[in-house]
Amino acid sequence: MAIAGSADSSRVLLRHLREIMAAEGDAQKRLDRIVRLIAANMVAEVCSIYLRCNAEELELAATEGLNPEAVHKTRLKIGEGLVGDIAAHARPLNLQNAQAHPLFAFKPETGEEVYHSLLGVPLVRGGRVFGVLVVQNRTMRTYTEEEVESLQTVAMVLTEMVASGALQDATGLVDRAATLPQRLEGRSLSPGYALGTAVLHEPRIEVKRSIAENIGKERDRLDAAVKALRNSVDRLLDTSHEIMGGESREILETYHMFAHDRGWIEKLRLAVDSGLTAEAAIRRVQEETRARMHEITDPYLRERLADLDDLTHRLYQHLSGAQGPAAEDLPDDAILIARNMGPAELLDYDRSKLRGVVLEEGSHSSHVAIVARALQLPVMGRCEDATDLVDPGDTVIVDAEHAQVFIRPTEDVLEAFRQTLAQRERQTAKYAALRGRPAITRDGERISLNINAGLLVDLRQLDDTGADGIGLYRTELHFMVHASMPKVVEQVEIYRRILDRAEGRPVYFRTLDIGGDKILPYQADEREENPAMGWRAIRIAMDRPALLKLQLRALLRATAGRSLNVMFPMVAEVDEFRRARAILREEVRRAASGGQALPLSLKVGTMLEVPSLVWQLKTLLPEVDFVSVGSNDLLQFFFAADRQNERVSHRYDVLSPSALSLLYWINAQCRKAGKPVSFCGEMAGRPLEAMCLTALGYRSLSMNAGSVGPVKEMLLSLDVGALAAELRPMLSLGERSLRERMREYAEKHGIAL
Ligand code: PEP
Ligand code: MG
Repeated sequence: MAIAGSADSSRVLLRHLREIMAAEGDAQKRLDRIVRLIAANMVAEVCSIYLRCNAEELELAATEGLNPEAVHKTRLKIGEGLVGDIAAHARPLNLQNAQAHPLFAFKPETGEEVYHSLLGVPLVRGGRVFGVLVVQNRTMRTYTEEEVESLQTVAMVLTEMVASGALQDATGLVDRAATLPQRLEGRSLSPGYALGTAVLHEPRIEVKRSIAENIGKERDRLDAAVKALRNSVDRLLDTSHEIMGGESREILETYHMFAHDRGWIEKLRLAVDSGLTAEAAIRRVQEETRARMHEITDPYLRERLADLDDLTHRLYQHLSGAQGPAAEDLPDDAILIARNMGPAELLDYDRSKLRGVVLEEGSHSSHVAIVARALQLPVMGRCEDATDLVDPGDTVIVDAEHAQVFIRPTEDVLEAFRQTLAQRERQTAKYAALRGRPAITRDGERISLNINAGLLVDLRQLDDTGADGIGLYRTELHFMVHASMPKVVEQVEIYRRILDRAEGRPVYFRTLDIGGDKILPYQADEREENPAMGWRAIRIAMDRPALLKLQLRALLRATAGRSLNVMFPMVAEVDEFRRARAILREEVRRAASGGQALPLSLKVGTMLEVPSLVWQLKTLLPEVDFVSVGSNDLLQFFFAADRQNERVSHRYDVLSPSALSLLYWINAQCRKAGKPVSFCGEMAGRPLEAMCLTALGYRSLSMNAGSVGPVKEMLLSLDVGALAAELRPMLSLGERSLRERMREYAEKHGIAL
């Protein structure tokens, strides 16, 4: 009954609000009428609206009950006093005796000392606080739950008015607040700089009309959207049966549960019954979910609320028929803003128009980040509230070199950034000029520079960089961006195209390194305690040999009449290599007996990524055609420091005497055995590290395409023999890191870093 009462009074309030908005008059007059209306409706002696006037302050914009002289004079910092506290935490405060509250800040000009009880709610949309709506009474009373609900509904409508600019000429304050420049910090997921125009990957819930004209009609619209949502989730769940397992299916089941959840639907209906349009009701319920999300620290519950948030978004899409941005509407300098996205979604966009990506979530190892790095697309992740703070069409700077994003940057920031970009372009031009030049050190050592690739788009880089070949082709990326397991014919087609594009330059295919953090969308995802040391790569291949067999079959077919270089990931024992090679041999036999043309040459090697294999090199080397050092994994296991865990990933330096001694020893063993060794971990792409690797004896490096230019420039200025003589004795120093010494050496000898 009480709730129905609240819906009734909200309805009356909203009807009057609509009349105020429809009537003539400037924004200040409207605000004045609004506060009078709310005060009367809620039987409050005071009703005030505080609006945000800049990033740090709120200003009293209208009041009924407080001293009118204080309007546009009284200001509070965000976090100052009770009103500031409501804004800072974006949550309501309901106090019987406000003056006794430790945060109460006395503003003498307002004359509020006679009022005791206070109910304040934030004007909030997404993460952005636009202001605070407050009612006060002389008596010490506690406002009922229905009153809080009702004030929140009004606040929601007011927020939409303020955000849409309908009240903007009252003070001009809000407009400035909504368009203030912002700087967000996050985590760089793919390096680089970008300047462009914001595009929201998912359309935001746009509430053009908040107050319903016909409640029955709004209820029908909501019910129809809920029905469509349920149907679509049910359909997804039905069709996903064969291809999904584990977590992915669990997510859908959670969606299914929420979509049929009575509490959720009831909340939406109540919001409509209180006089809101269906869109506004969805927004209102979504805000509540988000407010709860901010308070909850349990990661599991947060995830579930995030699912609910996502589902709310889908409901809105059913209501409005809104889709993501159409291809033809994409600006030429698009910066995508999204909560998160999958790699396939990213690839749906026209790469030639994409400049950068900003995500609220995402991690360095997320698939979208891997694909973005392959595309050389700067990506910032963990930028909280980005989708709410950025409006479509805003100018955005993605500075993934310093892990920051500028939204609506000021002219100064833009100018400084343009200079950085120009400097970057000059550098790129300088590296492009080195393209045709072989990487020969000053003392005449030829270093083979190769690129790491994983998608067809990478291959363009072979020509752009003038690299000698592809030192590491991560075949799993194709599998990760496919919605279902690529069939053998599809794989053959991909591998053929890679070889065509390589035009005779060597390509080292690595068989699937899935598991760990690289989960296929159609793979049963069984969470493990330590995925990096879990069931991944060759271990999956040993337990499920069909996958490896089919991949090798495809590789053999694609390389008929050409050279095939193939290597296995995460091999920990010689025996694993032997078993994998036996599967390959079996496939060769099978192909030959079927009369199939075979590769002209076949080289079989292994990645060196697990320390245990280093201690079997003497046995291993006579059996392999080559090895490739994967320092990303090798050194995380060497130091027992998870490469994904930022607390420890930089704790030990790869330029420590211990790591360098290990790498030196590996190279020496390979040389002694006369077996080619290349180096394809990330450190090969950093000039200082690459300098040390060549001094340790490595002559073949493979890296991200963007690193070829800087590494080549370094090599051209290096006397590697002289450095080797200097470095070797340092390996027995008990120092934490040789980085500083190496940097000083480079500076002293004019080596370009
Ligand atoms: C490595 O571990 O160094 C490597 C190149 O493999 P990935 O980064 O794909 O694990
Ligand atoms: Mg690895």
